[in-house]
Amino acid sequence: MRLRLLVLGVVGLVAVAAACVFLFQRQIGEAMFRQAVDENVGRDRAAELPDGLHVFVCGSGSPMPDALRAGPCLGVVAGKHVIVVDAGSGGPRRLARMGFPVGRIEKVYLTHLHSDHIDSLGELMLQAWVGGSRGQPLPIAGPQGVEDVVAGFNAAYRIDSTYRTAHHGADVANPAGFGGVAEIIPAPVGPGKAAVIHDQDGVKITVIGVDHAPVEPAFGFRIDYKGRSVVISGDTTYSAELVAAAKDTDVLLHEALQPVMVAQMRDAAAAKGQPNIAKVMGDILDYHASPEDAARAATAANAKALVLYHIVPPLPSSLLDAAFLGDAPANYKGPIRVAEDAVVTDLMSEGRLEVGVGPGGNLTAFTAFGLESDQRHALFDANLATLKTAWSGGTLAGGDKLYPASPTLVDRIWQATFTVPGARRAPRRRVTPPAAARGRGRRSRGVPTAAVPPTSDRRPCSSGRRAGVRG
Ligand SMILES: [Zn+2]
Ligand SMILES: [Zn+2]
Repeated sequence: MRLRLLVLGVVGLVAVAAACVFLFQRQIGEAMFRQAVDENVGRDRAAELPDGLHVFVCGSGSPMPDALRAGPCLGVVAGKHVIVVDAGSGGPRRLARMGFPVGRIEKVYLTHLHSDHIDSLGELMLQAWVGGSRGQPLPIAGPQGVEDVVAGFNAAYRIDSTYRTAHHGADVANPAGFGGVAEIIPAPVGPGKAAVIHDQDGVKITVIGVDHAPVEPAFGFRIDYKGRSVVISGDTTYSAELVAAAKDTDVLLHEALQPVMVAQMRDAAAAKGQPNIAKVMGDILDYHASPEDAARAATAANAKALVLYHIVPPLPSSLLDAAFLGDAPANYKGPIRVAEDAVVTDLMSEGRLEVGVGPGGNLTAFTAFGLESDQRHALFDANLATLKTAWSGGTLAGGDKLYPASPTLVDRIWQATFTVPGARRAPRRRVTPPAAARGRGRRSRGVPTAAVPPTSDRRPCSSGRRAGVRG
């Protein structure tokens, strides 16, 4: 009898809640929208980041149609400096949604001139122009031929620019700042095929000649800032030059094409009477790196972490990650991540304590960077006490102190290095977050929590990432 009453009570409550949601849809929607606007519109999330080297993945995809990944695009914030590497289709919009300071972009670097790396360049130039009220065209640096590409985009967007100036005024859309100006990066020569092309304010950028024949030249880039580094492969097969230039890097962002999957697509296209598609699928096998190649490169370079991007073929679910990786985990013992769009990699400068929070957006999803790749989703347990101390602002052994991450980025920060002395790996099980960190959208004693509404267009079944503004 009591059970029946209890069940009836619960059913009644659910019914009342459902009725409330139904009756107040408009008010709920208005409140949700207001909150999203407050938290996102006009926000420069990079300005909230601590000093360090941060990579915003604005496009982890390839030329293939991909519902989840924009074309190749990486935003890099090094201290106060802001650059973008490649402008693949949809990448600039992704940047804008992530709160990347497109108005502060100092330069765009192009790895090569394949269409998938430049097809949103016009849009990026437009965003940088209006977003930053630029008085000078945006510098676009790339291999020989970049001058033609930039001239073409300038011509294509010229008429649009006149409408912008007429509508928003010259203070916002200054004609003098419209478009881009090309800078040719000479192909590096010599045994290592690497050359420093920028060294200022602690930011050092090295260009690396990689192997993407018949695309010549094709570049990778290494970016160093205050003892931290990331290396971006561009499009390449296994490249000894890239490996040499990536020595001891913190994060190697390497392109990856899974040849077994692509061969299956080739065979299916051939069997269905689509010889052109079959030919293209067969051809692309020879100028990209497999996940295994990328893993070997990471091992040879002694990279601390490997992030695969320029993912071919599209992976509609992370359930396919293991199949995509193939034998890569056997070739590299460090952490491997198949990149997703709208994640941010933080590498804080000068040896500060660094922590990473998983895509669940709360401390239950706390992951330690530095785990074995097959354990990369394992959670800290033994280090929880240390972590609590860190979260609460206490000083740790060795004098380390937690540098609070941006409260709004937590949802998407998925990796960094946990450098608490004596930290060790923990068995795979969930941990309870410190009570102070459980509140949503609040900061307690410097504890970052999931203030950004989680993502909505990925992993609809995973916890903590539903219903909100996409980063
Ligand atoms: Zn390419
Ligand atoms: Zn490409």
